[in-house]
Amino acid sequence: MKIAVVGTGYVGLVTGTCFAEVGIDVTCIDIDEKKITNLRNGILPIYEPGLEEMVARNVKQGRLHFSTSLAESIKGADVAFIAVGTPPGEDGSADLKYVLAVARGMGENMDNYTVIVTKSTVPVGTAAKVRAEVEGALAKRGASIDFDVASNPEFLKEGAAIDDFLKPDRIVVGVASERAEEVMRRLYKPFLLNGHPIIFMDIPSAEMTKYAANSMLATKISFMNDIANLCEIMGADVNKVRQGIGSDARIGTKFIYPGIGYGGSCFPKDVKALIKTAQENGYQMQVLQAVEGVNEAQKEVLFSKVKKHFGGELAGKKFAIWGLSFKPKTDDMREAPSLVIIEKLLAEGATVSAYDPVAVAEAKHSLGDRITYAKDQFEALVDADALLVVTEWPEFRSPSFEVVGRLLKQKAIFDGRNIYDAAELKELGFTYHCIGVKTDH
Ligand code: NAD
Repeated sequence: MKIAVVGTGYVGLVTGTCFAEVGIDVTCIDIDEKKITNLRNGILPIYEPGLEEMVARNVKQGRLHFSTSLAESIKGADVAFIAVGTPPGEDGSADLKYVLAVARGMGENMDNYTVIVTKSTVPVGTAAKVRAEVEGALAKRGASIDFDVASNPEFLKEGAAIDDFLKPDRIVVGVASERAEEVMRRLYKPFLLNGHPIIFMDIPSAEMTKYAANSMLATKISFMNDIANLCEIMGADVNKVRQGIGSDARIGTKFIYPGIGYGGSCFPKDVKALIKTAQENGYQMQVLQAVEGVNEAQKEVLFSKVKKHFGGELAGKKFAIWGLSFKPKTDDMREAPSLVIIEKLLAEGATVSAYDPVAVAEAKHSLGDRITYAKDQFEALVDADALLVVTEWPEFRSPSFEVVGRLLKQKAIFDGRNIYDAAELKELGFTYHCIGVKTDH
């Protein structure tokens, strides 16, 4: 089989590389020439564990190619994926201009039957728009080429993307013809051998499945953050409550960790887009509106604790921040809670010294030189008035608290991810604040 994947970001690059890994001939296409030149030289535009080696291996073995030319790469393709961004427009709805531009380009250049697949997260009804763009482009050049559209939402998690793609919990494919179903089943066959299920459905249901999945996950997070805030007021410990409820199989242990709000390129925009889709169709997503509200407030919780601790006086204080990316094992800074916290500290006249294992280059796009970037986690602490743990990278989990205490000006830790033991830190003479536990001492 020969496939084209348009958009070489987190989703497109992982998708293309994983298909190449199982023996398929893949061309990854992007309009960003620098990205493609770098990829040809083995330089990746993103950090994703294990991806660099996998790209290099598949390029070497001649199965993975990079191009800026959709016109050339679409020719002869059995399947063409659209994996470009769908950022939120001004009103929160998904902006489809990149998706539809690619669809048009496909129609202008395809030369044989192709299944055109949206892998980008797109609202219900987008496949019909993609079909119309392709048909329009074909008609314009007087070509009559058979094609199908399909929806194949992606569920990979940044930081574990390769594993998620190669060993998926499920693959969801929306199709409107048997021919497209047959092609997609053949394409995914290598991933199904170990019992991973492929679920075929109609296209609108597949498009909705992605939004429902992300919205459910965002709901779990906001629900737990709401519970955490109440625990703190009432003198309960959310860490214990979490274990208590997670042991019920109907609830489960995953995704019920309180923290400083969800971020990233998916949950915030997908929740917004689903709320907007509903509104446009005369319906209110009341739960999701609350999920979004709780999340916005939660991003400020850690800052509020810091401000309260220092009696409202943050001007001239220095804060160490551990972790900038929106979650561990990625360099993705989109909608990262760290940005909200840092902006608030800077607005109060404080200074910030931050450390992140991989996200500094991305962070500089929004923070520039308004903060300093430490070369390791301990350098960030030097002369700081407190440490704020913002992203739970594994290397932050068990630091030498003796060293932390020595480097900090004041032994104060604000843990936005509940990774430390309150009793241990109290014993060591730290002031410790976390989420959903009354730890003020
Ligand atoms: P991204 O911003 O990392 O990458 C998008 C790429 O598309 C960029 O490299 C951009 O240059 C390229 N592009 C834009 N217009 C183009 C065009 N006309 N032709 C060729 N290339 C073009 O985005 P991403 O994070 O990979 O997300 C892509 C889609 O997948 C979004 O809809 C997103 O919601 C969805 N998704 C993302 C994740 C995730 O974890 N990042 C997970 C599941 C689904």
